[in-house]
Amino acid sequence: MKITEHIKAAKGKTLFSFEILPPLKGQHIQSIFDGIDPLMEFNPPFIDVTYHREEYVYIEQPNGFLEKRVVRKRPGTVGICAAIQNKYGIDAVPHILCGGFTKEDTENFLIDLDFLGIKNVMALRGDAVKSETYFKPEPKGNNFASDLVIQISQMNDGKYLDTPLEKNHTTDFCVGVAGYPEKHMEAPSLDNDIEKLKAKVAAGAEYVVTQMFFDNKKYFEFVEKCRLSGITVPIIPGLKPLATKRQLTNIPHRFHVDMPEALISEVTKCHNNEEVREVGVEWCIAQSKELIASGVDVLHYYSMGKSTNIHKIASSVF
Ligand code: FAD
Repeated sequence: MKITEHIKAAKGKTLFSFEILPPLKGQHIQSIFDGIDPLMEFNPPFIDVTYHREEYVYIEQPNGFLEKRVVRKRPGTVGICAAIQNKYGIDAVPHILCGGFTKEDTENFLIDLDFLGIKNVMALRGDAVKSETYFKPEPKGNNFASDLVIQISQMNDGKYLDTPLEKNHTTDFCVGVAGYPEKHMEAPSLDNDIEKLKAKVAAGAEYVVTQMFFDNKKYFEFVEKCRLSGITVPIIPGLKPLATKRQLTNIPHRFHVDMPEALISEVTKCHNNEEVREVGVEWCIAQSKELIASGVDVLHYYSMGKSTNIHKIASSVF
């Protein structure tokens, strides 16, 4: 089913969903199932699976020169989605990026997803790879997530890259896109970023999932601004429980989100990460309860492959 259909079928009840990362190369699919199994009691109608671009490693050669080698540390997004749909009978939502893909790669990726019966995709630009300062699309690739949404919408209309074809099967993907309550790090302003979000919706996106935030006020204000700008699709809040003291600084650095003073103060008092995890879970429970009371369609948790914290939160919220 499409995410939008799940939301409609829930008739106002807030749904539980979460996002997982493919395991590091070399691990077994069981490591994914071990993270999902404990969360199945909360009836997630869908699970997102992230996509990870290539990275580079430098390997020293016998002659002393360094050889640059491309590695993909977390392959397997499509296979994991198929395995989830097969094992649990629920929808898996693969993330798909502009970065690293030509439009033809994208088309082939989408054809695979369609053949596997995957109904939803999360369309993202992706970040710059470590060797670049700014994001660079592939030659003949999509530049922004809105371009990717256009390509998916065209396939939904039966338009492929090398038309005319003998048959033009119309795919039927429901497309999600990212939204940033505290604005995307490259956007000149929040209003400007919301205009770009509006373009993604105009291109065919049917729902938005937000970047993590730790202050619900930021989410409520963002939703209000989006509604005022004419965006009417569901805006699903993304939540992540804090788990280590280091995250107090590396989450703002990596994701450009602020930490509320009260949370900083609680975490600073902790003697170890066990205590930080308790604070993070309690904070996330409070955020979740307030968001449910406000009537959000879905609560989407960033599990980062670890289900224990999410289980504690879901047990007290759902
Ligand atoms: P876009 O919507 O293309 O926006 C990127 C920037 O360009 C923004 O500043 C925007 O304001 C600006 N912009 C957009 N359109 C235009 C235009 N036409 N002209 C000028 N400027 C424009 N990354 C991964 O690598 N893998 C994942 O699985 C993944 N999952 C994610 C899931 C969620 C819910 C979120 C919030 C992020 C995820 N990311 C993932 C990170 C994401 O790839 C980065 O945040 C990336 O930098 C931006 O992606 P986007 O789709 O928001 O880009």
